Amino acid sequence: MPKRKKVFTKPKVRAKKMKEARQNETEEQWENRRSNNRERMKKLRKNQTDQTRSRGRVELQAFHYDCKKKYIEHPNVIIGKMDTICKYCNERKFQGETAGMCWSNGKVNLPPLNIPPPELLAYMNGETPDSNHFLQNIRRYNCCFQMTSFGATLH
Ligand SMILES: [Zn+2]
Repeated sequence: MPKRKKVFTKPKVRAKKMKEARQNETEEQWENRRSNNRERMKKLRKNQTDQTRSRGRVELQAFHYDCKKKYIEHPNVIIGKMDTICKYCNERKFQGETAGMCWSNGKVNLPPLNIPPPELLAYMNGETPDSNHFLQNIRRYNCCFQMTSFGATLH
């Protein structure tokens, strides 16, 4: 049997309906609703552990560091193994990564990089005697020339 699609009501419509329903409830209904809510929240709080209570607030934990807490086991910290394959770029990604993290959920489609000119490709592939020096120092050279721009006037 095919799954039925859930129909969600817009929050504003839902809030309006709730407001109307609450305006029409009797004193007894109001007290029952409040009592049920109190009991439900009491149960929720009773079942919460320190870890579930602080879920979603990892960033503030740094200001209240407790050496007894195992922060590494916090659900927001565990992102799993890098064994999931992205359906957009076929690269490996962490289990905890959302679909939107890569290529913005398929909205972004980057063209493949251009093949570098043959001279540069020879350095990158180790085909010249200077390749080792190039590969070991390319970051330094890049840092030196990153703010320069090349220009030429041809006659
Ligand atoms: Zn991807």
